[in-house]
Amino acid sequence: MRIVLVGPPGAGKGTQAGLLSDKLGVPHISTGDLFRAHGDQATQLGIQAKRYMDAGDLVPDDVTNAMVHQRLLDPDAQAGFLLDGFPRTVAQADALSACLQEYGVKLDAVLQLEVPEEVVMDRLLGRGRDDDNKEVIHRRFEVFRNETAPLLEYYADRLVTVDAVGTIDEVTARALEALQALP
Ligand code: ADP
Repeated sequence: MRIVLVGPPGAGKGTQAGLLSDKLGVPHISTGDLFRAHGDQATQLGIQAKRYMDAGDLVPDDVTNAMVHQRLLDPDAQAGFLLDGFPRTVAQADALSACLQEYGVKLDAVLQLEVPEEVVMDRLLGRGRDDDNKEVIHRRFEVFRNETAPLLEYYADRLVTVDAVGTIDEVTARALEALQALP
């Protein structure tokens, strides 16, 4: 299966992606995690990306697209993947489409984790990552509304919406059920 996860910051994409990738047997590919791993190793890309991340802004599309393109070439991604945090802009979605077209494959589903902003704000403030302070979180929400929400329209024909309020297990179960119901 080739799946994209979409949802506002704090919707639980990372948590659900980890669990779903185990169940579905496909790798979990998180652009946030890839950037943070580069940051920890202080690579050029990591240092560049951290500036944007710490401000709550998106890392530029060209950098992000190239990193994902590279990752999708790895052998473990050939039979499927669960993309978490990518695409986040329509330009990234176009790049992903082009990349998949090259391989002659398609996305099976775009899984939207739906959760109200006031719920996720509390979750994020409790998490304490470098980019989890109130001001930066507000900026990330704004970026989500402006840049990422248009993807819901873009992927309307493949969109699977799941209510992401509830326990971790409840949300995983809903997501699996929704994916199994796909034609
Ligand atoms: P969250 O799900 O809480 O938003 P992520 O780990 O997915 O956290 O992303 C953290 C930051 O990494 C984003 O705010 C952004 O700066 C950067 N980032 C992650 N994915 C992308 C992407 N596809 N394009 C641009 N920047 C990204």
